[in-house]
Order: sequence, then C-alpha cells, then structure tokens
Amino acid sequence: GLAKHFAVHRGVLFQNKIGSVRAVDGLSFEVAEGETLALVGESGCGKSTTGRMILRLMEASAGSIRFAGKDVRSLDRRALRDLRRDIQIIFQDPYASLNPRLTVGETLAEPLRLHGLASGPKLRQRIDSLLAEVGLSPWHALRYPHEFSGGQRQRIGIARALASEPKLIVCDEPVSALDVSIQAQVINLLQDLKEKRGLSYIFIAHDLAVVRHISDRVAVMYLGKIVELSPKRQLFAMPRHPYTQALLSAVPVPDPSAQRARIRLTGDIPSPLNPPSGCRFHTRCAYAKDRCKVEEPALRPIGQEGEKVACHFAETIVPPTLVPENEPP
Ligand code: SF4
Ligand code: MG
Repeated sequence: GLAKHFAVHRGVLFQNKIGSVRAVDGLSFEVAEGETLALVGESGCGKSTTGRMILRLMEASAGSIRFAGKDVRSLDRRALRDLRRDIQIIFQDPYASLNPRLTVGETLAEPLRLHGLASGPKLRQRIDSLLAEVGLSPWHALRYPHEFSGGQRQRIGIARALASEPKLIVCDEPVSALDVSIQAQVINLLQDLKEKRGLSYIFIAHDLAVVRHISDRVAVMYLGKIVELSPKRQLFAMPRHPYTQALLSAVPVPDPSAQRARIRLTGDIPSPLNPPSGCRFHTRCAYAKDRCKVEEPALRPIGQEGEKVACHFAETIVPPTLVPENEPP
C-alpha cells in the first residue's frame, strides 16, 4: 500500500550527518548526530511508514536510505542486525510492543545477548542500570508488562531501545497513548537521555505541541510530502506554509493574548494513494489559486535560517494574525 507511495530515492549522505532519507516525490531529509528531527502531520500522511522504512520493518520499493555511509536497503542479514543495533524504535503502544510472557528483565536481556553486549553476572548489572536510566527499580526486572502503568510500560520500551546502545531512535508517537499528565515526564526523560548519550531522534507526532520542547528541526508532512522543514524556533515563530499555520493555530500557548487565531481546515483529508493534482494541499487551502491545481510546488529555501517551504505563494501569505486582546479566541 503506502510503501510504494513513500518510496525512498537517491539518498545523499553529507559529512557530519548520520542519516538521510530521500523519496521519489518530495520526501527528503537528513538527521545530524545529536539532533532531533520531528516529523509532524495528520494520521495517514506517511510518518510511521517513513519511520518503519528506515529500520527496514517495511521495505521501500525504490530509492535509498543511508545510515552512517551504508545503503540501508541493500544490507544483508548480518548487516541488518547491526543496523538494528544502531537504530532502534519506540512504538506508540508500549503494551502491544512488549511480549506479555517475558519479564521486564528477560525483555531487556534479549537485545543485550543478541548483540553480545553482556552475559553472565554483567547481564544483571546492565539490566539494573538500564532500568535506573529510565527511572525504574531493580525489582521491576522480575515483573511482567501487565503489572505496569502505561507510562511505566513506555519507560520499559525506552529501556529496551537503549539496550543495544543505538545512535538513532525512531520515536513513533511515543506519548500519544499516554495520559496528558504523563506525557511531559516521558518527553523530559527522552530529552535527558538524548543529552546524556548524544542520541539522535526522529520524533514522529501528529501534534506540534508535543514536539515543541524536544525537536531541533521540524518537518511538517502532508499526504506523504514534506511541506515545510525548518529549525524549530523559525517554524514556531513564523510558520510559512498554510498547513503549518493551521496546525500551529491549534497549539495552546501559555500567554492567551499571544494565541494565534484558530484556523480550521475544511474538507476531508484526501487519500494519499490518489492525492490531488498540483499542490496536494490545494483542496483545503484558503490561498489556493489556479496555478496550485496544476503545478506542484517544490520544497525550496526561504528565509535566512535554513527554512524550507513547498508553496508557490509563501512570500505573499501573511502569517496568521494574533487574537486581539480582550476578544474571545
Ligand atoms: Fe496553498 Fe497554493 Fe501554497 Fe499549495 S501552493 S499551499 S494550494 S497557496
Ligand atoms: Mg502512525
């Protein structure tokens, strides 16, 4: 299904970048060492598909994905095992991704043994220190997944991802299934681990609010394409694409007088398998002109800070106005 649509194409590895992804029709990004790149968009836009293709949990039908100089798509079995030591994934539903018949200790022992990282008495030490790193205790190693809360289960999922000493972790909506009160704790934990271990993340989310603190750069996706890719600060301060502007208008801000007017997108999300012609966003865009229906906008540089946008009229679209004070939003 979607794999073909998001096929990855002709990746380029740049110096000091650890990975890059380039797709047939406009999905192309790199991730630097120690960087968090957020992939944000509505469900069905291809975020998870992209994350799975990077680990070869799904096969891309064309093109290439590069990681640390290697073409991910052409790795043999053994090299693929090594890749999955270097790149790990944290899933949205930690319960579904943990084996209910294994204790937490057994779950963490698996990758340590598989990659030859610990055995004998060392094994137990490694498990204890992984549990400590994610805020759990040594005795948790003897318990089963069903004995934990949702937030604790996600901590177990994070510990399992850390076990193989990865360089890059794909976080696929890691807090979407958690209570709001728990989400910030897990995000903070991920941020701390990133700084301590020098990790890179590809952080997938459907909501810009979730990535506000953790991302360095943000790629906004719509129907399989990146429509805007910018450093976080620029993207939040001055969203260039009408779709980014709409997503951002839904994010609450601490100071209500600085809240942007809510932009409500009308119309259903078109099928990614049969996307609209020209600019894929034209069926929902308030600024669409005739050109938008026939000519596809390329992702192109705009601004001085490495911002990129895929919109013909980005220069003339005025960012959404702030809600005037004393007026209900
Ligand atoms: Fe809207 Fe046209 Fe820009 Fe697409 S190219 S976002 S339809 S103004
Ligand atoms: Mg998903």
